[in-house]
Amino acid sequence: MYFSKSFIPILKNNPTEAKIKSHKLMLRTGMIKQSSAGIYSWLPLGFKVMKKIENIVREEQNRVGVQEILMPTIQSSEIWKESGRYEDYGEEMLRFKDRQNREMLYGPTNEELVTEIFRSSIKSYKSLPQLLYHIQWKFRDELRPRFGIMRCREFYMKDAYSFDISDEEANYSYNKFFISYLNTFKRMELSAIPMAADTGPIGGNLSHEFIILADTGESKIFTDKRIFEVDSTKTTIDKNSLIKLRNDYDKFYSVTDEKFNKVKFETNVPENFRLQTKGIEVGHIFYFGDKYSKSMNASVDFNGKKEFVKMGSYGIGVSRLVGAIIEAKYDDTKEIMKWPMTVSPYDCCILPIINKNDNLNLEKANNIYNALIENKIDVLIDDTEENLSSKIKKFNLLGIPFQIIIGNNFNQQKIEFKEINEEPKYISLENIIKILKSKKIN
Ligand code: ATP
Ligand code: MG
Repeated sequence: MYFSKSFIPILKNNPTEAKIKSHKLMLRTGMIKQSSAGIYSWLPLGFKVMKKIENIVREEQNRVGVQEILMPTIQSSEIWKESGRYEDYGEEMLRFKDRQNREMLYGPTNEELVTEIFRSSIKSYKSLPQLLYHIQWKFRDELRPRFGIMRCREFYMKDAYSFDISDEEANYSYNKFFISYLNTFKRMELSAIPMAADTGPIGGNLSHEFIILADTGESKIFTDKRIFEVDSTKTTIDKNSLIKLRNDYDKFYSVTDEKFNKVKFETNVPENFRLQTKGIEVGHIFYFGDKYSKSMNASVDFNGKKEFVKMGSYGIGVSRLVGAIIEAKYDDTKEIMKWPMTVSPYDCCILPIINKNDNLNLEKANNIYNALIENKIDVLIDDTEENLSSKIKKFNLLGIPFQIIIGNNFNQQKIEFKEINEEPKYISLENIIKILKSKKIN
């Protein structure tokens, strides 16, 4: 792709309406465009990042045995009346009528719909556990949409649901999501801390929010710093290994403000380990037992006895993660973004110096481009006539992690290759490909 033909509408200056760095950068680099309050279009650069995030989320759900489905965005009010949440949900739910005058809504979450799907097909405990997920747009008519896609009205979410026969088995399902979330965020180079959370309108009594520390976050957290040291790398999907991991985390007092208790915080956490700060919620998992299965009559046969299934639900803010990664990685003062290679919109850019009426450097850039594309490296050529320093500045802002520079003394064996904001190396094309390929694996 040539930069001149790409749809990356960069703004000259930071937009004044944006208050936090992710919102600023996303508007500035043309990743998104607001269409109405809290509703955005995703332009190519932003969309590419979101799709890469989505894919990591999908792979990590599949890895722990969750099956992908796709439920619609539009739901009927009937199932919400069964669960009793139609009234409770309040004004965040967008309600409307179809031409037959039926009450419909744009799904803010899917517990009811997935329970309805489950109960119509699964009849025996032998089919349990059932773990299902989908990645779909949600609508919540937030009172104060703000910070761009961080708190918007229409957003992209992965939501998963588990169905089990007993509390113990349900806890095992919960723990599978627990480890899959840690692995998911790690692949985006984020350190997300699981914090005990309130269950809110979803109900139930076991819940963790996955929080990324950031000053601009909306969640207040109170934590024991030792939780940052917990190591999940040796955890397997085995029941006991997961119980151990949960204990390793849960033994540290670490909560969001709804659960905060000053006395508990001060008695459980030695003073030098106490941390009170802010963070961004990127994921939230809940266990709520038979709250929906009872009200919606979702049961299975267990040796001749009718048992209501035990359920949990598990969300990840796929679109919010785009902003959360920027909050974690963007250097405000230097105006440099460095996307983690696993979610970067492009792996590398080629910046040829283009002299008037001379296509030589552009031709060289094209040759390198073709070699990279053949090796499945996603690359963009800046074919504009801007000078090199403004090209570098522009690509530092866009955050593409690697840059190949083609100047007038280009040498095939010693190509100028640099990681964003680092000193250049002079290496062969084969070595560039080797490095880029190795960085892509994660
Ligand atoms: P919050 O506390 O931020 O309002 P929530 O607890 O209502 O979120 P959940 O129902 O747990 O959210 O949704 C799962 C995930 O979806 C959240 O962890 C978050 O990452 C994302 N999310 C929720 N609301 C929004 C929103 N308005 N805009 C963007 N992402 C959102
Ligand atoms: Mg939440």
